Amino acid sequence: MAALTFNEARAAVLEKVRAGRVLPSSEEVALADAAGRVLAETIAADRDSPALSRSVRDGYAVRAIDLPGRLEIVGEVRAGERFHGEVGPRQAVEIMTGAPVPAGADAVVMIEHTRREGTVVIIDDAAEPGLAINPRGSEAAAGEAILHPGKRLDYADVAMLAAFGRERVKVYLRPVVAILATGDEIVAVGETPEEFQIRNSNAHSLAAQVTRAGGTPRILAVARDTVEHTREMIGRGLEADLLLLSGGVSAGKYDVVEEVLAEFGAEFYFDRVRIQPGQPAVFGRVGGKEGGRFFFGLPGNPASTMVTFEIFARAALQLLAGEEECALHMPWARLTERMQHRIGLTRFLPARLSAEGGEVTPVHWHGSGDVPALTRANAYLVTDPERAEYERGDWIRVLTK
Ligand code: AMP
Ligand code: MG
Repeated sequence: MAALTFNEARAAVLEKVRAGRVLPSSEEVALADAAGRVLAETIAADRDSPALSRSVRDGYAVRAIDLPGRLEIVGEVRAGERFHGEVGPRQAVEIMTGAPVPAGADAVVMIEHTRREGTVVIIDDAAEPGLAINPRGSEAAAGEAILHPGKRLDYADVAMLAAFGRERVKVYLRPVVAILATGDEIVAVGETPEEFQIRNSNAHSLAAQVTRAGGTPRILAVARDTVEHTREMIGRGLEADLLLLSGGVSAGKYDVVEEVLAEFGAEFYFDRVRIQPGQPAVFGRVGGKEGGRFFFGLPGNPASTMVTFEIFARAALQLLAGEEECALHMPWARLTERMQHRIGLTRFLPARLSAEGGEVTPVHWHGSGDVPALTRANAYLVTDPERAEYERGDWIRVLTK
């Protein structure tokens, strides 16, 4: 198979998963548990918003035609009540933010632009009708769909649900993601490794990434580097909604993951991407339409596993979770030092993005096994595969960690 560019590989993930996904079933959760979940129903306004024309300032409700002028104050209206009269010619009603605009008035002049003398308010400037008023239904009309299925609910969405009286809401079930680390050298975190052994950190970083992306991680026992054991463990992994493997996808004699997946009848969409870390990344699917399972074979070096999850597997998981959008935000920042790389690969190099976000500094590291360096990074620099040299102050793309 030909190696894909980063953009081609990312496009393949989005296309294949969008085309082949089956949406999860849904459940009802309380408003307090809704944030971060993916909406599984359409939410419509249960009434006009605002339900009455409301003042957005503290000031005086007036008739715009009377301004500038001296107006007689005929009453007061606060949020939570209604003014029972009407504002007549050269009259004003004192009004608070959020209060309904009294009948007859068509503008609100903020208190800072008025002077008061007893029961008279003096306004020196003209005003357009509608000033400082939020008309009834201007934000949303009763029955209008405001939130759509596939939206991951944020705090503003929670406000919307609350405002429309929704104490419970329908959301998609979180996909279960099997995490299968491979490698004869890998031992469980609780074990004491020999010098030639390594603790299984990938399963745990992946579990954290899966949880953050809206999935439920299920860590399986480590697969030994034999066809038999890998077959048994992949068989278990394929029971989940998505299978993530770490390790065993390079060209080594004991890298058996692809061979075993092929035995399961897997279709491979890519098995090499021109990126670093993570070149041997694999993406494919086992089984036909409804019962099919997508899988990612992520290279085992910890940085490779973390980066390839973020740039490929996370999008797949979000789509399988029912989300409609799964953008990878890569804003621009200015390099604080000059930098070189060999062209041909899109590199994701550990970096520190300044607190304000505008500047980025590479973090010194010893390659894709260097987890301590990754803990000092809060982002990755994303190099252009066609550009070798960057000067200090040049713009470069950044992927936050
Ligand atoms: P592999 O992709 O199987 O060739 O693994 C490459 C390297 O990544 C191994 O030599 C280990 O150093 C490291 N590695 C593989 N799997 C894990 C894991 N589950 N946790 C931590 N490091 C790992
Ligand atoms: Mg291995």
